[in-house]
Amino acid sequence: MKTRKLIGIKQEFTIGKIVCLARNYAEHAKELGNETPAAPVLFMKPASSVIGDGDAVSIPAYSQECHYEVELAVLIGTQCRNVSADNAMEHVAGYGVAIDMTLRDVQNQLKAKGLPWEIAKGFDTSCPLSDFVPAAAVADPHNLNLKLAVNGEGRQDGTSSDMIHRIPQIVAYISAIFTLEPGDVILTGTPAGVGPVRAGEVMTAEIVSVGRLTIPVT
Ligand code: MG
Repeated sequence: MKTRKLIGIKQEFTIGKIVCLARNYAEHAKELGNETPAAPVLFMKPASSVIGDGDAVSIPAYSQECHYEVELAVLIGTQCRNVSADNAMEHVAGYGVAIDMTLRDVQNQLKAKGLPWEIAKGFDTSCPLSDFVPAAAVADPHNLNLKLAVNGEGRQDGTSSDMIHRIPQIVAYISAIFTLEPGDVILTGTPAGVGPVRAGEVMTAEIVSVGRLTIPVT
């Protein structure tokens, strides 16, 4: 079982399902040639895909193109089902930083065939995930700077103010489909600037005042 701390609070969560949004930043949707969707596009990663700060991403042998996507991670603290956007934030326990590792070549092949993305998105080590800071410590989750560098070279530098679907709406939308439980995590999508990493490189992902990850690639 994978667990994460809520920093400053003596509470540990066992990670449950990880529900992820695709194309939640217009500039990123554009860079991959995708339309900006009216409703959130969802996929999931299994809890077994989670690794922590300092752990390595291992690129599977069936891919030649593994991309980073830095994302704001939302930790669910209490169970909710069919919650309204007005009440959704009561169920958010904290915020963290994640990297949605994506086998872009595999995903593109699956997309072209209309097949599901799991083997491109949910493989072992595909979800580097920090501990979480309590929601009360984050003044505005829609005004956070998301950064990712490879070998110290800046690649992504975006702001959560550019999210198309915002956290209350996202939680409400997801909870109408999947009951959200304590320890579930939502990855809210990535800003523009995604690209490949190779074995031997090191990624650093940071959301100031939320978290930081240093993740080597093997
Ligand atoms: Mg993503």
